[in-house]
Amino acid sequence: MKQLFVFLSLSFSVMSSLSAQTKLDIINAVNLDSLSLTLKEFTGEVATNVGGNAVTILNREEANNELAGDYLVEKFNAMNNLTVNDQAFNTNGRNIVATQLGKTNPNDIYIICAHYDSVADYCADDNTTGTATVLEIARILSTQCLDNTIIYALWDEEEIGLKGAGFYAAQASSNGDNILGVLNIDMMGYDGDNDDDFDIDVRPIANSIAMKDDLINLLSTYNFNLNVNVVNPGSPASDHARFWDQGFSAVLVGESWENNDQTPYYHSSSDRYSTLDLPYFHEIAKLIMSYMVTKGGLVSVDNSLTVSSTALTSNMANASYQWINCNTNLPISSETNQSFSPSASGSYAVAVTVGSCTELSSCVDFTPLDSETIKLNMIKVFSNPVLSTLNIEHPFNEDLSFELFSIEGKKIFEQVLTKKRSELNVSQFSPGPYFVRISEGERVFSQKIVIGK
Ligand SMILES: [Zn+2]
Repeated sequence: MKQLFVFLSLSFSVMSSLSAQTKLDIINAVNLDSLSLTLKEFTGEVATNVGGNAVTILNREEANNELAGDYLVEKFNAMNNLTVNDQAFNTNGRNIVATQLGKTNPNDIYIICAHYDSVADYCADDNTTGTATVLEIARILSTQCLDNTIIYALWDEEEIGLKGAGFYAAQASSNGDNILGVLNIDMMGYDGDNDDDFDIDVRPIANSIAMKDDLINLLSTYNFNLNVNVVNPGSPASDHARFWDQGFSAVLVGESWENNDQTPYYHSSSDRYSTLDLPYFHEIAKLIMSYMVTKGGLVSVDNSLTVSSTALTSNMANASYQWINCNTNLPISSETNQSFSPSASGSYAVAVTVGSCTELSSCVDFTPLDSETIKLNMIKVFSNPVLSTLNIEHPFNEDLSFELFSIEGKKIFEQVLTKKRSELNVSQFSPGPYFVRISEGERVFSQKIVIGK
């Protein structure tokens, strides 16, 4: 039976902020509006802002993509927890690479990458689709605590010989970087026959086949509306091939060249935003996210709080806690339990630590109740619905006023409660809904009850 409590003069809230971020939450956070805005800005369909100036990115060809590079640097710099490397590798070549260091295994690296240069104006499918997806995944994953390192890489000069990726892969190989998988996305927005087919291009190099298998498993785990073609030996005509050259695990994901369903506007200025299949593109972007969040090793720390009238409680069990005074930004000494009952009004947050990952809750305003209000909250009126005997319990030493109102607000009964526990025979009243009002001075407790028959 559902009980309805109406507190007239009491105000306290039961609220929570963000709920725990599961892998599914992260995948569903991939947002088509966000992706579309990047697609339009990066292809010059709409103006954008770079370095505080209103600009339009008209072209991204080899010697003409400084503005595009600056745009990407600015996007990554605006995200938390990323280290941005603006990597010049020849006169005009410039990779934009952002690193999110793993909290548990910083030397275990997964790369999500796309080339951002083009061969003509616009070039929405090739490869703003990949570029926008890398930015969108970074936007979301950079807010999360991950075990492993993720590198978000946007390569330059793919169109004139996979140069940016070639430079990076050779350097990574000589550095001995422990790259466990390179997921390259290039052209993922066209599906002319609407059959939801896409390609994974793979070769039996390092653990590339296992990467392909992991992607296929994710298709069913999350019920993506996509049909896979495995192409083996896969095309070497994009940046992943430079990682194969160095013996790294890598695959290419994109629209289906295998089924001859690639964009008919390939390498021309007719490759525009309006020709893209946005739901199909969104679905592949979510598949890519599912792979990255799985391989990144999401550490699910619930940083939400429950606020009651008497305490703040972290919703994450079995963790370490440090409560923080948001007004001073300082930890509160000795307040390291899951719940915290502030003795003074203020704004409070909790830092929750699981393993090596710490997440901070949002700040919550809290005003401790005075003892009279606490006592008011302890008033009990039951049962509800009630057939004959209504029980009233309260903790006050004073006499309280008890009143019964019709649902229209007309007072139909009153008496003084002289004991901490009283019984009222309600069979004298007609069946239906009523309001009980119990007051002690200015303080009022109110509850809806239903008298049955
Ligand atoms: Zn391309």
